[in-house]
Amino acid sequence: MVALSGVNKHFGALHVLQDINLNIARGEVVVVIGPSGSGKSTLCRTINRLETIDSGTITIDGKPLPQEGRELARLRADVGMVFQSFNLFAHKTVLENVMLGQLKVRKVDKKAAEEKARTLLDRVGVGKQADKYPAQMSGGQQQRVAIARALAMDPKAILFDEPTSALDPEMINEVLDVMQQLARDGMTMVVVTHEMGFARSAANRVVFMADGRIVEEAKPEEFFNNPRSERAKDFLSKIL
Ligand code: ATP
Ligand code: MG
Repeated sequence: MVALSGVNKHFGALHVLQDINLNIARGEVVVVIGPSGSGKSTLCRTINRLETIDSGTITIDGKPLPQEGRELARLRADVGMVFQSFNLFAHKTVLENVMLGQLKVRKVDKKAAEEKARTLLDRVGVGKQADKYPAQMSGGQQQRVAIARALAMDPKAILFDEPTSALDPEMINEVLDVMQQLARDGMTMVVVTHEMGFARSAANRVVFMADGRIVEEAKPEEFFNNPRSERAKDFLSKIL
């Protein structure tokens, strides 16, 4: 469904993505791990074109990524993204945050957008907080709103870039539980995370990156129990 082929990306002299080939099937959950600076965020960001690429191709359902305008907004709705820093609109209520894209990009009417927003907020466990502003909620609650906002667009896939890294420990699980449920429901997900418990239980595949390359990819049990590359062994010895 999402296919990257021969993708290269530089930041100046730095070759951040080096010949990346990755195919993500519908309903697949791919967890991306690797040391800091290995290109995990950049990889995610290229998939919904927050970053351009220098060479190679990226397709969604066989179609190349659009370059600009309305098509690009639709791409970002089709491929949602959840960031470490929540990125909710601070001056809008939780309900408005989840309605906005539906109104602007999907052209849904207001009543339907509100109904859907309330259903999704219930689903992620913050239905009672619909009229609050983001700053009035905990980090874990805000991140669940961000997930509801992505879901409101009926995305084909959702990219998560360290969605729990900015959270206090006691809030991590409430976000991971929502993600776990999404995975079970068949959502196509790319998840950059250091939560190895989540990787083990939710991932269909672990992709290990180092220095801008995919060094290794395997089923979670295979990767964690029997990493093949020295880089992966070294990385795992530091985090497990
Ligand atoms: P982390 O685990 O710390 O989030 P990462 O694997 O997500 O790291 P990226 O953020 O993709 O790594 O960065 C890959 C490399 O590209 C790093 O060396 C980073 O400094 C560099 N980089 C990222 N964004 C930019 C940018 N906009 N301009 C220049 N260099 C950048
Ligand atoms: Mg990153």
